[in-house]
Amino acid sequence: MTAVARGSPTERYRRERPPVSRECGDELTRITDDIDDPIVKLRYLQNALNEEGDKSALVQLVPIPPARRAWYRLKGLRALDAVADANEEIAERTLAARQTARRVVVGASAAAMLFVPVLVAIVAWQVNRWRSEPEQVASVGSSTEANATAIESTTAPLVVPPTTTATLTSPASAEEAPVNQPPVAEPLAAEDIGIVPSMLWVADRGPGWELYSNGLRIETSYTVKGTPRDYRVQTRDGKLLPTKFDRPIGILFHTSESDLWPLEPGYEKELRKGSAALLRFVKREQAYNYMIDRFGRVYRIVDDDSRANHAGHGVWARGDEVYLDLNSAFLGVSFESRWEGGRTLPITRAQLIAGRNLTHYLRQRFAIAPEMCVTHGLASVSPKRGLIGYHLDWARGFPFQAFGLPDLYSQPLPSVALFGFNYDSEFLRTMGERWPGLIAAEKQLADEARQRAISLDQLRHERQTQYRRWRAALPTPAGPEPTLEAPASQTADKRG
Ligand SMILES: [Zn+2]
Repeated sequence: MTAVARGSPTERYRRERPPVSRECGDELTRITDDIDDPIVKLRYLQNALNEEGDKSALVQLVPIPPARRAWYRLKGLRALDAVADANEEIAERTLAARQTARRVVVGASAAAMLFVPVLVAIVAWQVNRWRSEPEQVASVGSSTEANATAIESTTAPLVVPPTTTATLTSPASAEEAPVNQPPVAEPLAAEDIGIVPSMLWVADRGPGWELYSNGLRIETSYTVKGTPRDYRVQTRDGKLLPTKFDRPIGILFHTSESDLWPLEPGYEKELRKGSAALLRFVKREQAYNYMIDRFGRVYRIVDDDSRANHAGHGVWARGDEVYLDLNSAFLGVSFESRWEGGRTLPITRAQLIAGRNLTHYLRQRFAIAPEMCVTHGLASVSPKRGLIGYHLDWARGFPFQAFGLPDLYSQPLPSVALFGFNYDSEFLRTMGERWPGLIAAEKQLADEARQRAISLDQLRHERQTQYRRWRAALPTPAGPEPTLEAPASQTADKRG
């Protein structure tokens, strides 16, 4: 795909750059531990890793591990300059840490100077030893070719078999090869294998978890209660229905917009710490009802009966019903991933399967209609600017089909069709093209303008006025925009 070939420097890093060394990763993790805000943390990591570049080869020449680590740490701390001004607390802590790191580098360099003669002596001794044992070296070197000689048969258990050798070298070759990930995740096989329970129920539960009959496991140790749901529904003719609702009627899918470590062995700690920091942040901000980490673990954060601050200003409609308070009306389900370079970065297959099981469960529990399972990128608007796409997470690429849901990218977009929201050139540049539902909504508007013999601008203005009136009539004001997700226009590569 051409979109994949281009992309931001950060995105290219993720696909092409070999993973950083363990030591470098450890030092960066120690530094990011001091950064609570995932957005700042992400910005920092991008900066540090881009700075790191090819220079790490130089650091790897340093023979003493503590000196290497100190050098990595110093480089890492230097990269904090880019984000430190955004956060005074980091700036203070950094200053002290940087001074300590400098002292360590000076000390370690002095130690390295003393160590070099010893190292040279050890290397010389080792080379001499190899020279005096040529047969053994040869037997290991040719082990994959033949196993007929007496020597090799006696040493066979010690020889690394070819298959193991391949396994051992695979991380190196994986580092060289660019990771060609599919757009979303592997397609899922149709759900016609195995028995699927007709009803979902809690099969087992323990401290901090619940297991459902479809295999869904929900971790509950981060769960908090928030403000109870309380919303009303409007109809297309502008009536505010009197009934108050306190149960969710839809699901809004998000990405967490957080830092993503490579899904490879050797990054367990970073992956774990990244998710844990994200979960703490989501809990504190009550940002979503559910979070699905990259290993497919499902966490309930804000309980189902409470509103989470995930939707900000969002618009959705079904039939005659119009929803303008999505925080209350929709459950927020977020995948640990990010919108970047005009698309959502691929989620893992584990996330896909967990997300599907969770969707089945939530749909059954709250009788949620399939066309009410929506993505944030489809619903988000900027009321002030009258534009769609304030947030763009899952503005394309959500695996509706794999979830057994209708493709909402092909249905007329309510914010445009009902309220005349528009988009700007930046939006088009990011998206590359309009999705079919957006085109269909614009056509509806244009048809109506023609029938009424008014201009499209006039009609949009009329609809925008109507939107503002309807918003003002709502008993609960729209929540603040989600704190976790930066608006699309402020992300590193402008809208993604
Ligand atoms: Zn979102």
